[in-house]
Amino acid sequence: MAKDLLKPRFELMTPGPTQVAENVRQALSLPCTNPDLDPDFYTYTEDICKDLESFFHTKDHQALVLSGEGILGLEAAFASLTQPGDRVLVLDNGVYGKGNADFVRLYGGVPVLYTTNYHEPIDPEKLEAFLETDHDFAYASLVHCDTPSGILNDIDTLVPLLHRFGILTVVDAVSSAFGMPIDLTRTPADILCLGSQKALSAPPGLSMLLVSTKAWDRMAHRKTPIASFYANLPAMKDYAKNQWFPYTMPSADMNGLRQTLNNVLEDPEIFARHHALAKATRAALTKAGLTLYERSGFSDTVTVFNVPEGTTDTAILSGMKAQGILLAGSFDVLAGKVIRIGHMGENARKEKLQRTLRALQKVLTGLQVPLKADLEQVFTASLAEQDL
Ligand SMILES: *Cc1c(COP(=O)(O)O)cnc(C)c1O
Repeated sequence: MAKDLLKPRFELMTPGPTQVAENVRQALSLPCTNPDLDPDFYTYTEDICKDLESFFHTKDHQALVLSGEGILGLEAAFASLTQPGDRVLVLDNGVYGKGNADFVRLYGGVPVLYTTNYHEPIDPEKLEAFLETDHDFAYASLVHCDTPSGILNDIDTLVPLLHRFGILTVVDAVSSAFGMPIDLTRTPADILCLGSQKALSAPPGLSMLLVSTKAWDRMAHRKTPIASFYANLPAMKDYAKNQWFPYTMPSADMNGLRQTLNNVLEDPEIFARHHALAKATRAALTKAGLTLYERSGFSDTVTVFNVPEGTTDTAILSGMKAQGILLAGSFDVLAGKVIRIGHMGENARKEKLQRTLRALQKVLTGLQVPLKADLEQVFTASLAEQDL
């Protein structure tokens, strides 16, 4: 007998994967073409990439889409830029920030960690003082929103600062892009890494990258070949000119991506909505007496609060599941310490957050956590103040 398909029991309110809109699910079910042999698929891909370039306000970058979720794009950036022996500056004020050192090592580079407090964004003045003493780096990696803690780094200041010292930058914007504005003309990250399953609200499965002319130039002048087939950016670069992909593209996922981009491009309020909902969520939690993990540097895409005394993350998460809602704990050094509410992409809707906060009130009260205010009421009042 045919086995059942998985129909999710929970509403996803996690910081990725996020909810997928109905029109995107329909796009994913369209008939599939042969992406290698159908000439239309090349123009289709090129057009998606051109839209990504204009969405991020750049004429100096080429967008690429790779067939693998966010991590593939990150690995491809590190694989393509790192040459054996390269010193690479790894900015570390979060789990993903630190994790980038592994990619550098894997491709023969020497990571130099610049580690700061995980509760605050990287201070550009302190980084500048450090760079005065040492700036001999092939490139630097940094994370815009480090999702396990929700910290938001000021890439608009950090990227130009690193450039002033002649250092190329790889920026992980997987969990911020499409929920927060990024302007590559003002903030010319050399490789900007994006994923499909966060604020874009497509299913997991695709990485998008925006690669600057300087980054392409660096790759073209490598002394050693790139030690990867699948994570090799130059191999993908000229797909349109050559009418050839190094491997078969996921045609169904590309339809999903096309539709999510249409949704984003037709949503002029997208950034303002993310901002207002994030502010209201933080207001609700703090007025009720809960504490946020971050002291400053809040992302508009995720809110991270400390597990209150007297209970555990698993108790809160199971309670929420019993209410039909999936929230996330965290991992690595944050495991067991925090709860994360993802309000990015399709999750970033007033009613969905109202429902989530109502359920959270019930769960925390049931766990004897004293709350000083009604989460949903404070949230709604804060939105009204912000005209949403
Ligand atoms: C989600 C995410 C990635 C991609 O990793 P996943 O395996 O999809 O979780 C990379 N960087 C950041 C900052 C992310 O939030």
